[in-house]
Amino acid sequence: MELVCDLCGREWKMERETWRCSCGAPLRWNLLMGFDRQAIEAKDWSLWRYKAALKLPQNSKPISLGEGMTPLIPTPDKRGWLKLEFLNPTGSFKDRGASVLVTGLKAWGISEVVEDSSGNAGVALTAYSKTAEIRCRIFVPQGASEGKIAALKRFGAEIVFCSTRKEAAEKVMEAVSAGIYYASHTWHPLYLQGTKTVAYELAEQMDWELDDSWSVFIPVGNGDLLLGIRLGFQELMASKVIKSQPRLIGVQAFACAPIYAAAYNLTLPLNKTIAEGVAVTNPPRINQIISSVRETDGDIVAVSEPSILNAVDELAGLGLWVEPTGAIAWAAWIQLGKPSKSILLLTGAGWKALKP
Ligand SMILES: [Zn+2]
Repeated sequence: MELVCDLCGREWKMERETWRCSCGAPLRWNLLMGFDRQAIEAKDWSLWRYKAALKLPQNSKPISLGEGMTPLIPTPDKRGWLKLEFLNPTGSFKDRGASVLVTGLKAWGISEVVEDSSGNAGVALTAYSKTAEIRCRIFVPQGASEGKIAALKRFGAEIVFCSTRKEAAEKVMEAVSAGIYYASHTWHPLYLQGTKTVAYELAEQMDWELDDSWSVFIPVGNGDLLLGIRLGFQELMASKVIKSQPRLIGVQAFACAPIYAAAYNLTLPLNKTIAEGVAVTNPPRINQIISSVRETDGDIVAVSEPSILNAVDELAGLGLWVEPTGAIAWAAWIQLGKPSKSILLLTGAGWKALKP
């Protein structure tokens, strides 16, 4: 079957309602799509060049704003490579997940969606829903950055302000019970079909030479980027496009690091962090994230608040304006002594952290 529940083992086909298992746990992709280099639509400079390798509902027509195919540039010392994900259309990698998810929702005939997000995922979903003429309501907890709220308003989101993340999640479930579709970046399997294209792009941009001598540093909160990249690399290996899987290094802010704590059997307080995009206290896919990292001989790393601020400054010194969450891969790379053959994902744009 295409999807499997890690908790109860039940298997599912990808259909309109399978955004999670009936037992309430998240689903994992069991299906590995074949990847054929000859099938790349080379003239399409977006992630849709890989359409043949994306699992989509029948009769899907891409809802696209030109997402993906972000630059990969070397660091000045040539020890690392920077993937400029903040250059996606709405300023974050979430455009990949939103483009593919909304494409699927449109094919299923869905006309109204809800989502709970304090930031980039909500902004991306709003923009792609608008393009697809799908009504979109975002439940936003207090404390979301003003720059992101300004972007939501600019793209025409219907915003419902809530006092906490918990309240936002509860209100979303009320809407879902009333029959509105939950277009969740945290839960929906189609989202990972979008984020997996980072793995494809990295392989193509590295001339198909990626292997386990490389490490990929990935900010991790809900894990929608890390798990997508893991899926993409698994598919490339199964299709013998790459020989071995690069190591995945998941990066958290130490101030709010539940995945790091679980991986190392620590009890840590969950506090506020300036890396708000990864400040997820209870990620539903935590076990999938930890096992994915371990299976690649990777690691979970946690970085301090001063090191995040320093990373933002150092990247700005290179001409790259990223938000604090988007800089934590750099902070982790410095913390580990700048190992060579490292790829760092710079996930969100600096203007997202601006006050309007
Ligand atoms: Zn289950």
